[in-house]
Amino acid sequence: MSSKSLISTDVDFDKDGKQFGNLFVPQSTNSAGWANYYVPIIVIRNGEGPTAVLSGGNHGDEYEGPVTLSKLARSLEPEQIQGRVIIIPMLNRPAVDSGTRLSPIDGANMNRSFPGNPTGTITSMIADFVANQVIPLADLVVDIHSGGSSMHMAPSVNMHNVADQEQMAKMIEAGRAWAAPLVFIYEDVAGAGLLPSYAEGLGKVTLGTEMGSKAQFGVETLAITELGVQNVLHWAGILKEKPAEAGTSEPQVVAAEDPRDYIMAPCSGIFEPFFELGDEVNEGEAVGQIHSLEQVHREPDRVLAQTSGSVIARRSIPRTAQGECVMVLVRPFG
Ligand code: CA
Repeated sequence: MSSKSLISTDVDFDKDGKQFGNLFVPQSTNSAGWANYYVPIIVIRNGEGPTAVLSGGNHGDEYEGPVTLSKLARSLEPEQIQGRVIIIPMLNRPAVDSGTRLSPIDGANMNRSFPGNPTGTITSMIADFVANQVIPLADLVVDIHSGGSSMHMAPSVNMHNVADQEQMAKMIEAGRAWAAPLVFIYEDVAGAGLLPSYAEGLGKVTLGTEMGSKAQFGVETLAITELGVQNVLHWAGILKEKPAEAGTSEPQVVAAEDPRDYIMAPCSGIFEPFFELGDEVNEGEAVGQIHSLEQVHREPDRVLAQTSGSVIARRSIPRTAQGECVMVLVRPFG
């Protein structure tokens, strides 16, 4: 897209110090013909050095990012860093406002909207601004996710297996530095247009996360997220002092690179899981079964694993439609 973004901002990316500001996204609504939608952005800079772009709330029902990054924005002072930290705690703020994965304004998935469209709907306008004016400034890109409403996840830092081996080695090193229990290499099984894919494509050291779920939100996942962001900022040479706590010392690097590792429901009904996070599953084994709402006399349909591995994610909404992911299996990477 070559047309210019209609979004303006009151932060100056090149100014030293700490600035709390907003992206102003032009909107015209039933309640205001002329309006701007505000998306908070924080810039903390202290002279020359690397730049980290940290985002949360890409999906609105994933809360670790907004909470961790708002706390970081308030607590991190310029003198604690060298270089720059740009924080967007609620990338899809309308979705965070409504507690939904997708934007209630245009129904769009921010993480399927990259590289965006400067004259599109609100989600693609924000994606376009971030893609063209924020991510290019970065050496390190961190986009904090969790399983949200629909999945329970074992806490992980994640990335794609990018073609550039040097970039991949750096991303795994950064992922390990987070000190979450798992570093997870994943495949896209549900479409394109992801923020991490876009940043990886620019050659940036890019980390996503899956920190838990709406139901798991709390002390454990917040601690892993908060410590991990600081660990990675220190790894990148931005945060001067090493965080006091260590986190998991030996994260496991695992991968789900076979599309069959993402087990989809063969039919609709109520999914009953047979395994929990961390359990080992063998190829051919049933990972759960789906109960019919219409034909109660019928035995449930068993959902079979087509690969072997340990469970990194499982569906957390019992009611399941055909084709929805019910479990993800991983194996050691490399
Ligand atoms: Ca997500």
